Order: sequence, then C-alpha cells, then structure tokens
Amino acid sequence: MISKLLINGSWVNACSGETLDVIDPATEDVIHQVASAGKEDINVAVKAARDAFDSGPWSEMNGAERAVILRKMATEIEVRTNELAGLEVLDNGKPLPEAVWDIEDTVACFNFYADLADEFHNTPDEKIALSDYRFTTRVVREPVGVVGAIIPWNFPLLMAAWKVAPALAAGCAVVLKPSEVTPITALELGEVAQRAGLPDGVLNIVTGLGANAGQPLSAHPDVDKLAFTGSVQTGSRIMQTAARDIKNISLELGGKSPFVVFADSDIKQAVEWILFGIFWNQGEVCSATSRVLIEDGIYEPVIERLKEEAQKITIGNGMHDDILLGPLVNKSQYDKVLGFIEQGKRSGARLVTGGGPAKGLDKGYFLEPTIFADVEENSSIWREEIFGPVVCIKSFSTEEEAVKLANDSEFGLAAAVMSKDDDRCDRVASALRAGIVWINCSQPTFVEGPWGGYKKSGIGRELGRWGFENYLEEKQITRYNSEEPWGWYVK
Ligand code: NAP
Ligand code: MG
Repeated sequence: MISKLLINGSWVNACSGETLDVIDPATEDVIHQVASAGKEDINVAVKAARDAFDSGPWSEMNGAERAVILRKMATEIEVRTNELAGLEVLDNGKPLPEAVWDIEDTVACFNFYADLADEFHNTPDEKIALSDYRFTTRVVREPVGVVGAIIPWNFPLLMAAWKVAPALAAGCAVVLKPSEVTPITALELGEVAQRAGLPDGVLNIVTGLGANAGQPLSAHPDVDKLAFTGSVQTGSRIMQTAARDIKNISLELGGKSPFVVFADSDIKQAVEWILFGIFWNQGEVCSATSRVLIEDGIYEPVIERLKEEAQKITIGNGMHDDILLGPLVNKSQYDKVLGFIEQGKRSGARLVTGGGPAKGLDKGYFLEPTIFADVEENSSIWREEIFGPVVCIKSFSTEEEAVKLANDSEFGLAAAVMSKDDDRCDRVASALRAGIVWINCSQPTFVEGPWGGYKKSGIGRELGRWGFENYLEEKQITRYNSEEPWGWYVK
C-alpha cells in the first residue's frame, strides 16, 4: 500500500506520481511506501492552508471551540497508543516502551494546548495604560496565519505535536512536512484530525524529501511562519530562505550538551543519569548530554561503573521485550556515527567500551553503546553533534573549570549538573549558557516548560505558553477618546 498526501481534506498522490520507500531500521526491510511530494504539491497544500485560514471557519472559531477538537484529537491518539507506538518503532527503531512515552507525551501535548486555547478564550484583551490620557490601547492576539512545519525523524509524532497542537490552538492553518525517514505517524495524525472533525485544509500533510518538499515549503510566499526542527545546517538554510519574505521563524536545532558531575554525587545516581542522558532513543536526541565532565575525585570510579552498566544494555529490535537500545534510524546515520567513532579512536581518546557494530546482529543498523574517556577538547567527538549512542567524558578539578569547559561550545540547547550541594547546583545552573538546565537528572521534559536553545541551538521556544505565543501575532488597537481637537493641521 502507498500512503497519499493529505491536502485540503483529501488523500491524493503526488503530482509526479513518485513514491518513497519507508524502511524498518531493525530489519532493513521496506515496510511501506509514501508519496514523494514536490513543488507542485507544496503549492496546492499551501493554497489549501491559505484558503482555510483566510476564509475560516477554523481561524474564526473561538478558543473554546478549537479546544473541543484538539481534545478529540488527543482522545483519538490515546485510544491508538499501542498501535501508533508500534508504527513508531517500525519506522524509527526505538524500543517500544520509549515509543509509548512519545505517544503519551503527544496526547498530553494536544490536551495541554486545548487547555491553553480555552484559557485564551477566557482571557480578556489586555488594556495598556498610555502616557497620554486621551488615548487607550488594547492588545489583541491573533493567529499568525499559515504555518509551514518541518520536523526531524527522532521523535516523529511528538515533534509533529509540538508544532501542530499549539499552531491549531492559536487558530493557524498548517502544512506539515515530516522527515522522509519517518513519515508514517504524521500521516496517521492527518487521519486523527479528520476523525476529530478538523475542517478541511487546516492541517495538510506532505511527505517528501527535504530538497523537493521542504525547500519549496520554506520558500513559499504564502507561508507566514516557518517552524523548523532539525540540524543547524538545514536551519541556517531555512533562515536564509525565510529572510527573503521576512517570514516569522522558530528554529529548534542541534546540541552538544554538557553534564557536570561533582565529586559529592552518589555514583549510582550519576551513572544512571549519564547513561539515560546519552543512550535513550539511541542517543538520537537533540538534548542528549553527550559531553560529560566528571570531577577528579570520582572520575575513575564513575567510568568503571559506566563501563559495567553500559555492557549490560540489551541491544536489538525495538519490538522485542527488554530492549534498551534499538538500531540507528537509517544507514546514513549509522555510517555517520561509525565515522565519528573512528575519529574518536584516532584522536587518542580512551575507548572505555563499545566502539563498533553490535555483535550478533547481522541485519539492521545496530551500534554498541560507546564510551570515550580522556577526550581532547579540540577533537571532533567533543565538539560536534554525533546524534548516536556515543558519550565523551573528561575530568575537571574546579567548578570554574567545569563551567568554562561546559560553555565552550557553539551549541546551547541543554546542560545538566549533579551535586549534593544545592547552592553549587544553582550557581552552576545560572552560569551555564543553555535553554534547558537539569539539576541532578538529565532529559526529563515537560509540556508546561519552555524548550529551545541558546547560540546555534536555535531561535525561540516551543512548549508551554511560549510555544503557543509562537503562533500568535500581537495587534495594538489604539483609540482616541477625546473630544478635544488634535489641532496640528486643522486649527
Ligand atoms: P535535518 O536533516 O536538518 O532535517 C530536518 C527536516 O528538514 C527534515 O524534515 C528534512 O527532510 C528537512 N529538510 C532537509 N533539507 C531541507 C531543505 N533544504 N529545506 C527544507 N527542509 C529540509 O535534520 P535531521 O537529521 O532530520 O534531524 C537531526 C537534527 O535535528 C539534529 O541536529 C538534532 O539535534 C535536531 N533536533 C533538534 C531538536 C530540538 O528540539 N532542538 C529536536 C529534535 C532534533 P528530510 O528528512 O526528508 O531530508
Ligand atoms: Mg524508517
């Protein structure tokens, strides 16, 4: 079966008739095919979104009415949790329990933005006091318009939800382009939206290649806002394209996040969170704490325990029981990560464990969990985002040195610090240049808080009320209330 594009409420083939293979990274089998959209399809999808936005009814509904449909979408997803999680495993490779988290978080995301749409509906326009008593101003907030949403492959449905839920809550119309590597659950989201009664054209889903579908979407003059998650390189290209029309953009990009572990930490806790910070989702996580800084006093004992625990990590098909590490998402990511591992070996870093393809698995893109210690500050494995199950470790001897090393990166998405000294944790948290800082843990993410990065990790914030504001414009409406003539030209 070939999945079609969802445009203006209808499922259609790509104009070119072309398709893309969808591959299960655990077996390397082609499991499905999807339409491969090009510029013509993007034009039709953007027109559908434009018409839907300009003529209503979605953009003209009030927040409470929109909330009803968003909650129905949440329910539609919730009842299909296991099925959708299974599709995510087939498409992306992650272990099934982690895929179930993704679906649960997706449900929570739609419910959260339904609540915000309700709250928005009940919030009166803001009145602003002005310095001239003759005028009054109120500020109204309106949907930004047509949104082009482009997402990566690491959390396929959840990344769609982070953009689609707040955009719909705000009253926008959306054209969503999932990654060519993991398109399946985005298409299921289209089906969910239809069943929930979302009007035609409000959510259009176009599968296709970055260059053929993503690029024309980012360049389309009728797209008011671009919401992008992906690599720095593509983000920069999208920003340049968006500059031509001065489009509103938000970017969630890469990371090389540090985890600073002080010597007063409990070793078991430290090992647990270091492993979780890099090996969940195969390390294909933008906020993965992939650079670990450990204070001298516990450096070797932590490394020893990390080695022991990492070697127990069960590797295999994410559909099988008790798997903790699935395959990398595709051949090219597998090759890229292996390439970094080889560079790491050549850099003189100490290979503590792992360092190659997983043993005993002759099909699928499986790598061993890999730990490098004594990593050089200037090596590529320390500086560049690997986006795989590879962690780099280095020692430090003072708090000042740790902060300096942690902040010495072009990225600033996330960071973590562990110590029993709360004041020290707070001090380090405030010194770290990153949009998300975890204390005594790494990775837990909540829909209520802001998500996004400093430096090359992006622009703007998703999630929470910040994610909602991403899709709103502010309009001031200023009234002259006075009977007094203005009296400048006409005396
Ligand atoms: P990517 O190659 O930049 O792709 C992201 C999306 O952009 C995909 O849908 C891709 O389509 C599309 N695309 C590619 N070229 C394009 C172009 N010229 N114009 C418009 N769209 C284009 O990134 P990825 O490899 O999928 O994802 C990994 C990256 O995402 C990592 O750097 C990671 O850190 C980052 N990430 C960040 C966050 C965050 O919240 N900050 C979250 C998750 C991931 P195709 O897939 O079809 O090429
Ligand atoms: Mg796939």
